[in-house]
Amino acid sequence: MNNRGLLIIYTGPSGCGKGTVMAKFLPRNPDTLMSVSCTTRAPRAGEIDGVHYFYITREKFEQMIAENAFLEYAEYAGNYYGTPKAWVDDRLAEGKNVILEIEVQGALNVMAQRPDAFSLFLLPPSWEELERRLRGRGTEAESVILKRLEAAKWELEQKDHYRFQLVNDDVDETVAELEQLIEAERQTNNL
Ligand code: 5GP
Repeated sequence: MNNRGLLIIYTGPSGCGKGTVMAKFLPRNPDTLMSVSCTTRAPRAGEIDGVHYFYITREKFEQMIAENAFLEYAEYAGNYYGTPKAWVDDRLAEGKNVILEIEVQGALNVMAQRPDAFSLFLLPPSWEELERRLRGRGTEAESVILKRLEAAKWELEQKDHYRFQLVNDDVDETVAELEQLIEAERQTNNL
């Protein structure tokens, strides 16, 4: 029996409710932490540096790529996003589960490096609902929304690469299902 934590890859197109699910899941599951990524996009209203992301310049991001500081990184809708490697590995070694909320390209990269990772794709109840949620957020310009909708189409086609898929119809149900899946996985792996 070892006490390493579980690495959890968590993907869903923009607007499928990923953040809302985590806002409920994390306070109930203190053994599970969310990795904070670096990004070159600007903070949205209400986002805090070091909490939602580390907001860095392209120059700094490219320097970190050269230093091999990322477990994975990708370009998405015109910006870089990447997972700092050292923090993730330290938390796993301490026995914490670590969630990477990342897009598909980065997720496929992590799956290749860490075949034992748990992977979950979150689906919106419907395409119409996804579009409604994305527009309803009211934080992005139309051109950004269109880029995200285009990315979402391709992302939805990639869902079968993930070990688990959940439709986020009802947030409480999604959280409960996720908790059960993680618990079952920890037991199977003797974590
Ligand atoms: P947003 O700009 O909406 O916060 O994020 C855009 C997309 O980038 C989302 O699908 C989000 O999951 C993904 N993302 C966030 N951080 C990372 C990361 O470190 N690596 C990768 N590959 N994707 C990320």
